[in-house]
Amino acid sequence: MPVMQTRLRIRPAMTLLAGFVTTAAALLATASPVRAAANDELRQWSTIDALLKGHYDGVVTLGEARSAGDFGLGTLEALDGELLIVDGRAYQIDSTGAVREPADATPLPFVAVTGFEADVVFDVPAGLDMAVLQARVEAARVSPNYVYAVRVTGAFASVKTRSVPRQTKPYPPLAEVVKTQSIFNFADTRGVLVGFVCPGWVRGLNVPGHHYHYLTDARDGGGHVLGLVTGEGVRVELDLTPDFAMRLPVNADFGALDLTEDRAAELHAVESDRR
Ligand SMILES: [Zn+2]
Repeated sequence: MPVMQTRLRIRPAMTLLAGFVTTAAALLATASPVRAAANDELRQWSTIDALLKGHYDGVVTLGEARSAGDFGLGTLEALDGELLIVDGRAYQIDSTGAVREPADATPLPFVAVTGFEADVVFDVPAGLDMAVLQARVEAARVSPNYVYAVRVTGAFASVKTRSVPRQTKPYPPLAEVVKTQSIFNFADTRGVLVGFVCPGWVRGLNVPGHHYHYLTDARDGGGHVLGLVTGEGVRVELDLTPDFAMRLPVNADFGALDLTEDRAAELHAVESDRR
């Protein structure tokens, strides 16, 4: 197996703090609140537990979500496939595996976005599985207490993804839907993983731990990532995202949901490769 040099560049915490101060001063000087919101804020609409409960009605348009950042993931109204936003462009991977760029008017029931600017960049060798890659990402954080946006680009020996079929009302819970999910296996593929690694404190709101969606460089496939093996020339970029903002749906259905239960086990079952 070819040996690749692993390079690691991590800004020390004090440098990051100095960077925050510098950024804040620059923002005050230029009075650019849009940039402030887009840079280091995770902005999400609805909660992951509402999605688990079957709240698939749109709560924000894709256009509004895109205005809050150029990087993110989520799903579409009626759970019509997997969604990712990368370099400001949004892609839907539907349950047939087809990729399209939805219109800005498309309603989304759950989406999380940020402005992506890498704070940490490193390359990883070929042959790493999902668990090892995740461990490398975790080791590159200054602390597990922060949300990080994570972008992984390059070649992959394999990527296993899933997508979910569009639902009709009354909407079943996500745990029921994933029983009918489509599985896609990509071999010797090039593309990008768009995701987040979140602390345990997001429980109920977002996905604690790692959550990635994949898009091929050819823009002809992808989905919610269930597993992978890295290939040559894989680069990992992390963006520390210390700000957090959330907008809840204001409607009777959301108001009537029972969001008091701990759904950690259910979430793990729908997000991970259990089939
Ligand atoms: Zn997903």
